[in-house]
Amino acid sequence: MKILVINSGSSSIKFKLISMRNRDVLATGVLERIGITGSRLEFRQDTKEYLVERPVKNHEEGINLIIEHLTHPQKGVLKDRREIAAVGHRVVHAGEKFHRTVLINDLVMNALRECIPLAPLHNPPNITGIEACRRILQGVPNAAVFDTAFHQTMPPHAFVYPIPYTYYEDYRIRRYGFHGTSHDYVARQAALKFGKPIHTLNIITCHLGNGSSITAVEKGRSVDTSMGFTPLEGLMMGTRCGDIDPAIPLYIMRNQGIGVDEMDRILNKRSGLQGVSQLSSDMRDVHTRADEGDPHAGLALNILIHRIRKYLGAYTAVMNGADIVVFTAGIGENDTRLRERVLDRLDCLGIQLDQERNALVKGDFGIISAPGSPVTVMVIPTNEELEIAEQTMKVVREQSPGTVPGGALAE
Ligand code: ADP
Repeated sequence: MKILVINSGSSSIKFKLISMRNRDVLATGVLERIGITGSRLEFRQDTKEYLVERPVKNHEEGINLIIEHLTHPQKGVLKDRREIAAVGHRVVHAGEKFHRTVLINDLVMNALRECIPLAPLHNPPNITGIEACRRILQGVPNAAVFDTAFHQTMPPHAFVYPIPYTYYEDYRIRRYGFHGTSHDYVARQAALKFGKPIHTLNIITCHLGNGSSITAVEKGRSVDTSMGFTPLEGLMMGTRCGDIDPAIPLYIMRNQGIGVDEMDRILNKRSGLQGVSQLSSDMRDVHTRADEGDPHAGLALNILIHRIRKYLGAYTAVMNGADIVVFTAGIGENDTRLRERVLDRLDCLGIQLDQERNALVKGDFGIISAPGSPVTVMVIPTNEELEIAEQTMKVVREQSPGTVPGGALAE
């Protein structure tokens, strides 16, 4: 079975074609600048890579262009578009409507549209991508895989905010959590590597990238996570502030006469590593400048490290102990120095780091805790596209048994 994974943004479409027989990536790429001048498709398969520059007016033209190249007689990896058994779409927000991956139909599309107010920037392009695939690949099942779904198991005391309860009842203002596909994937991989069923384990998953979040996964279920109503809450991030006193934006707005949109930009785009370092949102740049003695860069690093440690303590308490801590995403997988400082002197939580092992594990799986450490610390590369493909395959197989005998589904 070959599954096309689509991550559709406002002016871009990322895609990956995966053969589920052996989880091989057949082709991958990104189409950028949809609807503006300079549209370009970067297409990669095996070691070959090429660039197509051609005007692309909208997402439908974009999906058509991608499929044209997947099935290109010389360069393509498919003989026929009918080899695509299903399409898995990343959808950011499902509100409280979906707790798991679903096959798309008209009712699901209506429900996704109803979630637009919760993610006004992300859900509309996700929906446009699904609509384009439904029109172009008629008869091919589409599945929606949600960033929020994994966290729908949180109990009310973790997801209700202590503001007037009517805001939850009337506007569904609550903690939703994001990066669910990644937390779910790395938690299950961790259990596999540990050699015990996930329902016997407490795992803290640290997804540290441009956007970062930490999740407490108790017996396979998310019971708390650091991102909230939006992906702004929680850890300090590349450009997002994470947890701050909610009175701060009110104070700034009152005293500087700043409007809502400007305040929104300050918190989402001008804060975090970028805001404190006054230099860059990219962790590598921040390290370089901190090494050169830049005090702002050093402080930005110290804040992030301090806050990750606080969440490790908090989630250990939430679950009454952890068996495994996982580091993943760009920073979590590669930043050996940050991991060393986060995990230093945490024996109160049962975490004992093996510094030599930690220094060796970069971008790959590895156990970095000392032998005998009560808590095992692992680095696990995330693979959200593979997880989307796995969940798509599962839901297609569950809901359409035997509908395409001998066809692309059966392969
Ligand atoms: P996104 O959230 O956009 O998917 P990624 O998971 O790719 O982000 O993570 C990007 C972050 O990872 C950037 O801050 C980048 O500097 C950081 N990063 C990547 N490689 C390294 C490295 N070797 N050392 C430190 N940080 C790294």
